[in-house]
Amino acid sequence: MFENLKAQPADKILALMQMYKDDPRTDKIDLGVGVYKNAEGVTPVMRAVKAAEKIVWESQESKSYTGLIGDPAYSDAMIKLILGDAVPRANVGAAATPGGTGACRQAFELIKMASPEARVFVSDPTWPNHISILNYLGMTMVPYRYFDADSRGVDFEGMLADLGQARAGDVVLLHGCCHNPTGANLNLSQWQEVVKLINAKGLVAMIDIAYQGFGDGLEEDAQGTRLVAASVKECLIAASCSKNFGVYRERTGLLMAVSQDSGQTALNQATLAFLNRQNYSFPPDHGARVVTTILNDDALRADWMAELEEIRLSMLGLRQQLADELQRLSGSDRFGFIAQHRGMFSRIGAAPELVEKLRTEFGIYMVGDSRMNIAGLNAKTVPILAKAIIDAGI
Ligand code: PMP
Repeated sequence: MFENLKAQPADKILALMQMYKDDPRTDKIDLGVGVYKNAEGVTPVMRAVKAAEKIVWESQESKSYTGLIGDPAYSDAMIKLILGDAVPRANVGAAATPGGTGACRQAFELIKMASPEARVFVSDPTWPNHISILNYLGMTMVPYRYFDADSRGVDFEGMLADLGQARAGDVVLLHGCCHNPTGANLNLSQWQEVVKLINAKGLVAMIDIAYQGFGDGLEEDAQGTRLVAASVKECLIAASCSKNFGVYRERTGLLMAVSQDSGQTALNQATLAFLNRQNYSFPPDHGARVVTTILNDDALRADWMAELEEIRLSMLGLRQQLADELQRLSGSDRFGFIAQHRGMFSRIGAAPELVEKLRTEFGIYMVGDSRMNIAGLNAKTVPILAKAIIDAGI
């Protein structure tokens, strides 16, 4: 049997991480993998997470199974965080999942189960794991234009034109905020246009929200998702706590199925429980319990929000510093988009050979499509990167 296995394509980002590790240069800069790092290059355990873990450690009396959908208190707290008052709680079926990846996987499986003919429209580009999982599940995927190579913003006309080709029942996958890999995002009126199109054509919305609080703020980053949830007949929302709670390895996510018809919720929720059962039975609990503890305790929640805000503002500061430095060195505004982008990533729009040149000649590692992780920078490395970008001829 094993002789039939075929080598799968290596994950490009993980391969890049390995190259970085193997690079002996001491002044190398890692802008590759998508984890937040502070100015010291550390991905810290957030203060509120440490405190909540202590509470869980002291108070937890059993590690017996929870339920197939996880602890309902986790769903309640997360639904409130993401959806606010956009839809009644009774309209939302939800299940805990292993990270946002697990939530996306379960969402795709639900789509396949309920609507085998549906095609999934994905932004060009999108997070590569969307594509890889959809391919693995044998689902049909259609890219829609998203990134404008000139402005490095959203090609909104192209996006609407391509989504206009979708048939009733097709799924539109949107990034809730902080688009990965580009950093270019829809504004609220563009979200409104997309909602109109979804409703006019009878499409199904799916939102992947993995960076709430990393862009314009916790509430602001949820605006598009809330608008969609409140305005469409039904939607799926895959959420991750990996980044905004810094609990990457705990695998903490949530999948929501939102329907205007609350009579549908019990079946939606039972289906999410069934899908969990088939794939891994009970979802991981520790990260979810920590998140719930934080969100339900006023002091911990306030401290978490304050630290998240520090993280957000530090990334915004680095963006501005880099854009300013590039303006100074290039004598032009052509890098102004770096300050406009939001979240951890910016696609700078450099050709692969120039990305390669940055790595070989300057020891600067970014993903081959020229996505850089802003959090990989600090005040000292920003001028080094800016100079390398100009010297490399980008
Ligand atoms: N969606 C997007 C767009 C992401 O960038 C990520 C993280 N790389 C995820 C989902 C899921 O992350 P995780 O499974 O680690 O929670």
